[in-house]
Amino acid sequence: MAKALVLIEHKDSKAKKASLEVVHALHSQGVEVEAIVFGATLDKDTLATDCGAQGAKKLHVVSDASLGFYQAENYSATVENTFKAGSFGILAAAATALGKDLLPSLSVKLEGGLGVDCTGLTINGDKVSAKRPMLAGKYFATVNFKSGPAVISFRPNVMGLGDGSAGKAEIANVAMTPGAGKAKTTGIEGGAQGNSRPDLAEAERIVSGGRSLKSAENFKILEELADTLGAAVGASRAAVDAGYAPHSMQVGQTGKTVNPILYVACGISGAIQHMAGMKTSKFIVAINTDEEAPIFQKADYGAIGDLFEVVPALNKEIKALLE
Ligand SMILES: Cc1cc2nc3c(=O)[nH]c(=O)nc-3n(C[C@H](O)[C@H](O)[C@H](O)COP(=O)(O)OP(=O)(O)OC[C@H]3O[C@@H](n4cnc5c(N)ncnc54)[C@H](O)[C@@H]3O)c2cc1C
Repeated sequence: MAKALVLIEHKDSKAKKASLEVVHALHSQGVEVEAIVFGATLDKDTLATDCGAQGAKKLHVVSDASLGFYQAENYSATVENTFKAGSFGILAAAATALGKDLLPSLSVKLEGGLGVDCTGLTINGDKVSAKRPMLAGKYFATVNFKSGPAVISFRPNVMGLGDGSAGKAEIANVAMTPGAGKAKTTGIEGGAQGNSRPDLAEAERIVSGGRSLKSAENFKILEELADTLGAAVGASRAAVDAGYAPHSMQVGQTGKTVNPILYVACGISGAIQHMAGMKTSKFIVAINTDEEAPIFQKADYGAIGDLFEVVPALNKEIKALLE
């Protein structure tokens, strides 16, 4: 049976759900899972509890003053060494910006195969295969790993979490292996969601706006609803192309793939390229003046009306309910 090493991302020592889903996806298939986490100052117990609850037996903790930010070279060298020392067969991470940055080069260093942004996993003895959506989710490829380790990133919000009763991970302190030192991250600026809103790719609730918002300033009404709901704010490509929102907020085929519990599409027509990025949302709410808009074919709930009236009214009602 394969043994897996999972890269854990965290915020202030709280493991990200997307990483824990990867632990659970492997553990639930009977794989022996160990995890690795990086940071300058880490609450090891909290991380070990989070990872253990989803099935990790051991947590490799790499704590170093230089790791206050993601340092690609140091992460890569340390993961490579830990992986090689532990006779692992699978290296996995969430298909976040960090996972997508780190895993391709590691698959080369480890002489393994690479499956990116996968949404399914099958383990049969030593045989590993992963399901990967292609062409905006119209087709699925089955990636069979034939030789060398399987290096896999999993799409956030797809694999789910276990009931949290798997146990607690043993902590193993690991010294950081310094990389070549050619590049160093010295700071990270707040992104489009500011510091308080959840990351778009991981958010459980998203309020998204389209061309019909007409200006960047008008996105404020979506931000207000998002803040009431604890949601991230997204945008269609038409809104991004018009300069109303940055590309980091774009949802769709050429933007981010999201999979929230709630997706509120405000003045978005529902073009196939937009749907490719959000159609797996659990509940879709559409607000649109055109009752024929394609988004209503996928929506669970719809309001036919002007978003400039409906969104503030919705925000007011939800706020009153939450008080
Ligand atoms: C190769 C390729 C890749 C693409 N990738 C993406 C992608 O990643 N993401 C993406 O989103 N698109 C993508 N697109 C573009 C996509 O085809 C659509 O053009 C785009 O999604 C339309 O954005 P929209 O819904 O905001 O605008 P529109 O299609 O113009 O729709 C605006 C909607 O707002 C409604 N409306 C107008 N006023 C109001 C109001 N006051 N209140 C409520 N509703 C109102 C209208 O009825 C209409 O339905 C891609 C296209 C191509 C060719």
